[in-house]
Order: sequence, then structure tokens, then C-alpha cells
Amino acid sequence: MAFSKLALTEPVLKALAHEGYTTPTPIQQQAIPHILQGKDLLGCAQTGTGKTAAFAIPILELLHARKPLGPGIKVLVLTPTRELAIQIDESFAAYGRYAGIRHTVIFGGVSQVPQVEALRKGVDILVATPGRLLDLIGQGYISLDHLQTFVLDEADRMLDMGFIHDVKKVITRLPAKRQTLFFSATMPPEIQKLADTILKHPAKVEVTPPSSTVDKIEQWLYFVSKKEKADLLLHLLQNPAHKTTLVFSRTKHGADKVVRILHKNKVTAAAIHGNKSQNARQAALAGFKAGSVRVLVATDIAARGIDIDELTHVINFDLPDVPETYVHRIGRTGRAGREGVAISFCAPEEKDELKAIQKLTGKNLQVVAEHPFAENAHQPAPPPGPRPPRPERRKPQTTEKPAQPKAATHPTKHKQPQRVQQGVANSNAHTKKQTHGKPSNTNHRPAAHKPVHQPVTKQEPVKQMPAAPAGNWVKEYPEDERW
Ligand code: AMP
Repeated sequence: MAFSKLALTEPVLKALAHEGYTTPTPIQQQAIPHILQGKDLLGCAQTGTGKTAAFAIPILELLHARKPLGPGIKVLVLTPTRELAIQIDESFAAYGRYAGIRHTVIFGGVSQVPQVEALRKGVDILVATPGRLLDLIGQGYISLDHLQTFVLDEADRMLDMGFIHDVKKVITRLPAKRQTLFFSATMPPEIQKLADTILKHPAKVEVTPPSSTVDKIEQWLYFVSKKEKADLLLHLLQNPAHKTTLVFSRTKHGADKVVRILHKNKVTAAAIHGNKSQNARQAALAGFKAGSVRVLVATDIAARGIDIDELTHVINFDLPDVPETYVHRIGRTGRAGREGVAISFCAPEEKDELKAIQKLTGKNLQVVAEHPFAENAHQPAPPPGPRPPRPERRKPQTTEKPAQPKAATHPTKHKQPQRVQQGVANSNAHTKKQTHGKPSNTNHRPAAHKPVHQPVTKQEPVKQMPAAPAGNWVKEYPEDERW
């Protein structure tokens, strides 16, 4: 199916051709006709499915058809993170480049002055995060009286991030007569309730069941002790195929630590998390997109909505506590049908998290059995002992030479290739020896001599997901089901 079949007009079609888009993604095929008809929409889709264009394209089309447009904001897109807000605004710029529609983006953490200036000039489409929007409404810079379309993006994340009350406050400011488009990757009860309250007879579209992992993404699992994770990361990054790698860390502190280790080993890297200023986050993201930063280390919330077309690898340095987060994380790669690779590190302490992920996805990840750190993979980290007393801080004496930081040595420089035990794709793999009736392999090639991008695996039979209903990239959403 081509975009030309979707009743779009020349300015939008030309912009899509300019973007190199030839065919609509499944959510676009389903959602665009409903939105063009003015219907409310409930879309269950995660980032990476093309959902931004699924609402941005018909919104631009409708506004273009209604020209000349009067004063006031006609479309509000509410989204949880600044990064996502910027990317959505960039999408409106790209798809609307020939449509002559005015748009701008507002978010917190930066000066409001340029944002207020842009609003004063007149805006048709406003993309906003909830806090800054309410702030500027309160100051009288924004009125939503002329609003025709409201888009709530990533509703479940709004809940996760504690913005749901702000969202509800925004909703009370909207005109009752409007079109509402509601997107969420998952539908926890509170989000379902919100959708029921604000949508009127919505068309329902769903792409891929919410917890299924994107099929095109290769998913590898490395069992590794906690203390050797950084060495394993450096080892993997020797592979030039890791052009743009997004590494997920559970904590902000952990993200900073990984970046320090990468820098010491001459890998360009930047961290992106909530303790970084907006400017630092933007700079990190821009460097990553431009290719001057090879590795971006992120926490889950900061990474939400990061949209990088050419992301080659996602590495779960730590497994997430919440299994759904795994699906969100790996969805960063393999976007819009591209192939991607997701690699997970699992320390002995994380076997419960791994179990939960495999249960949710209905799939055992493929274990990479041969790697230089496989031998210690089953060694749990020592329990945290009492903290040693802090050394007293002294001002460095001017005559004293400051101590040189000890450079972390690359594992392959001092590690001999380890004898490798074949892993199995289950959470107890690092405690079991698997022979499958064969003698264990004592004569294998040393792991370090193998190209790191050709992992040696032992694959467990993959548990099949229940068969999807026919034609189900997209399905109409039956009234009595819950995602
Ligand atoms: P999203 O799910 O909105 O984050 O989009 C994921 C990525 O898919 C973005 O990088 C878009 O530029 C890209 N994309 C969206 N729609 C299409 C399309 N029809 N053809 C090719 N790429 C697309």
C-alpha cells in the first residue's frame, strides 16, 4: 500500500517523499483514515512503530484543508519527556515542510523566554510536556479555547513518571468539543479509565501485542558477573559493527560510571539521565545522532522517546526490574522495520529479572556461551560489607603531584581467553552445565579469536507466542478486552 492511497494531498505527499517514506507502517495504514474522518482514536503502539507520523500526517492534512486558519492553538500534543517533545516537533517540521502550518514545542528545564516568544508569533500546533504547559497556561501565555485536536502520547509513561495528575489538569482546560487521539504502549487500569473518560466512540488500533518483542531484533544474552560487566562491554565495543550503541543502566550513578570507564578506554560516550541539565542531554543526543559519540548510556526514563534511525545496538548493562521495560528498551533498535541487535548482560543476582523477561516475551533469549568472561559468570558479587571509613579530605599541596588516575586496562590485553561453558537459555544457565548428551567441549577455539559479532550460541527451543489473529499487525480492539 502506498501513501497516495490514503487520501493525502500534494504538500504532505511531497514531504513524505522527501523523507524517503514509501509505504505507511501498519499503525499509519490503520490510524490515518480514522483521524482524517475526524474520529477519536485509541492507539496501542509503542515507539518505533511509526506512531508519531500516524497522528502527525493526518493532523497536518486536516489543518492544511481548513486553511486559512484563524488565530489560536488548534492542536495540542502532550508528551511525557522533553526529548520526545522535540522529536515530535521535528516530525511536524519534516512532514509539514510544504504545508505552511505553524508549530512549536515547549518543555521545562530551560528558559521559557524563547518559548513564550514563539507562542506570541502564533502557533497552530503546540507540542508540550505537562509541567511547562500548565506553567505557561497559569501565566496567561497559552489559551486552549480554540483547540480542535488533542493528542495524548505515551499515556502509560505519563503514569509511570508521575505526570498523570498534570495530564488530568490539562484535560480540564480543553474544549469539550474536540477530536482526541490517545496513544499508549500498555493499558494499565488507570490509563484505561482515563481513555474511557476522554474518548468518544473511538476507533481502536493496536500494533503488535504490547509485550511482544519486535521480531526483527536479534536478542542475545551474556551471563557475566557484575564486576566484569564493564570489561565485557569494552570487549563487545571492539567490534566496529557497534556503530551506535545505546547502553541501559539501572541507575544514574551507574550510567556515569560506565561513561567514565569508556572514556578511560578511549571510547566516545555520553550519559543521559535525569541529573543532567537539559543542555547536557541535548548535546549528548546531538553528538550521538551526528556520530561523534559512539555510545550513549541512559537510564530508562531519560531514554524514553529517543528516536535514532540508525541505532545498531541496544545493550542492557543491567536488566530492568520491570519486564515491560525490556520491551521498551529493545524497541529503540530495529525501528520502522529495520534489523537491530539487543544484548543483555545477566549477573547471577539478576536471574529473577531474566525469568520475568522471558516469561513476558514468551521467548528464551539466545545465550552467547563463549566470551572471555564466561568463566566467572556464575560468581555472585560479594555482599556489601561495612563501608570503609572515608579518608579525610585534604587540600592538594601545590608542591605535591596529583595522583594520576589509574587507567582501566582493556580486558583483552591481560585476560587469557577463558575456558567456556555452554550456556543455556534459561535463568539458571550459569549454575548448570549443559551437555546435551555430548562430551563437553574442551577443545574449542579461544573466544577472543572469534569475531565478537558472531556469537556462539546454544539455543533452547523457543516457546511460541500464542498465534496472532489473522492479519494482525493491526487489529480492531474488542470492547471487553484489556491490553
Ligand atoms: P516512531 O514510532 O514515531 O518513533 O517512529 C519510528 C521511526 O520510524 C522514526 O524514525 C520515523 O522517522 C520512521 N518512520 C515513520 N514512518 C515511516 C514510514 N512510513 N516509512 C519509513 N520510516 C518511517
